[in-house]
Amino acid sequence: MTRRIAILGATGSIGTSALDLIERSPELFSISAVTAATKVADLADIARRSRSALAVIGDERLLPELRERLAGTGCRAEGGRSALVAAAAAEADLVIGAIVGCAGLEPVMAAVEAGRTVALANKEALVTAGALMTEAAKASGATILPVDSEHNAIFQCLACSRGGDVSRIILTASGGPFRTASSEMMASATPSQAIAHPTWSMGAKISVDSATLMNKGLELIEAHFLFGLPSQQIDILIHPRSVIHSLVEFVDGSVLAQLGSPDMRIPIAYALAWPKRMPTPAERLDLAAIGSLAFESPDDRRFPALRLARQALEAGGAAPIVLNAANEVAVDAFLAGAIPFPAIAATVADALDRSRDSTPLSIADVLEIDRATRSRVGAAMKASCA
Ligand code: NAD
Ligand code: MG
Repeated sequence: MTRRIAILGATGSIGTSALDLIERSPELFSISAVTAATKVADLADIARRSRSALAVIGDERLLPELRERLAGTGCRAEGGRSALVAAAAAEADLVIGAIVGCAGLEPVMAAVEAGRTVALANKEALVTAGALMTEAAKASGATILPVDSEHNAIFQCLACSRGGDVSRIILTASGGPFRTASSEMMASATPSQAIAHPTWSMGAKISVDSATLMNKGLELIEAHFLFGLPSQQIDILIHPRSVIHSLVEFVDGSVLAQLGSPDMRIPIAYALAWPKRMPTPAERLDLAAIGSLAFESPDDRRFPALRLARQALEAGGAAPIVLNAANEVAVDAFLAGAIPFPAIAATVADALDRSRDSTPLSIADVLEIDRATRSRVGAAMKASCA
């Protein structure tokens, strides 16, 4: 029996890495569904190649083209938001959540509510609705397996925990392309400089988040919800080589770390084969060649996003949703050349300052806060560009 996998966001960086692993082990896996936002030709190719039973394109206007491209293959083609959510909840042994941004929240939540095992890369879903999602997983019996490399590392280290004995988790960060850059240089940084990540190859949004260190901020909030630890027990450590993917410190002073080459196929494989392991083609670590592993503390002054994320986590309620929505709008604007690099964190700070306290009680509440923040931030940006 093969394990049937649904991939939400199959055309992206994580989706493509997952498909690579699945194609290498056809005796272990089959594909039940693949989805994408707009890349209809890529999605049709993936569906054909993987013999997926279902392909869903988020943009419904592209459904006729998807149908045409899949004619005669036996793969069902569907389109639109509700088809995407239905695909996430459909029967599968593992659902990979690899959509980028809060756009992935409803599909991931549907999979969790249906009691699926979810391999979660889409950190923004946890950042915006972590409490609701972990509650829903408890109620439905769903399992959330972290794919984000740091959280996957912690998940692996926690296998050695005897319960209640963790004193601290330490998330490592490469520091991104501007780790050693001056504030002046960052003020004139271009999108292509910002997405040129020194150690990982990833989608554009997360690459910009890595340059501002907002990625680590989002991961701090993600870690809080996944592992149930308060902000004070989650530290950030800059480790430019990206060899140690994170660490767990126990009450007795022992520290366990997970190491590996910076290749997302390692954490993805861990989730695909869980609770077993499977081989991957990832390059093996040659520690003698690497020689030494350096560490440094993050610089809050040049990278205010980290402090903003911690502030949002500690404030709770709507704050992480506002942080995430403002960041998504600002990153899009930066990538479009509309705002300079430092304006990303400034936009987020301003949105947090203006946000009102509220406690989202449902996914509908979360989506409303997300929508209202986007519209407020978008309007403020237009006004300042006019
Ligand atoms: P990407 O931009 O390469 O791919 C995103 C995927 O989501 C694409 O398939 C796209 O079609 C789909 N998508 C985008 N918007 C959508 C929408 N509105 N509706 C439906 N589908 C939509 O992104 P990525 O780098 O693969 O990242 C995916 C997620 O995984 C992000 O949350 C990211 O933070 C997380 N993550 C990525 C990496 C990495 O190495 N790329 C590492 C850790 C975590
Ligand atoms: Mg990560």
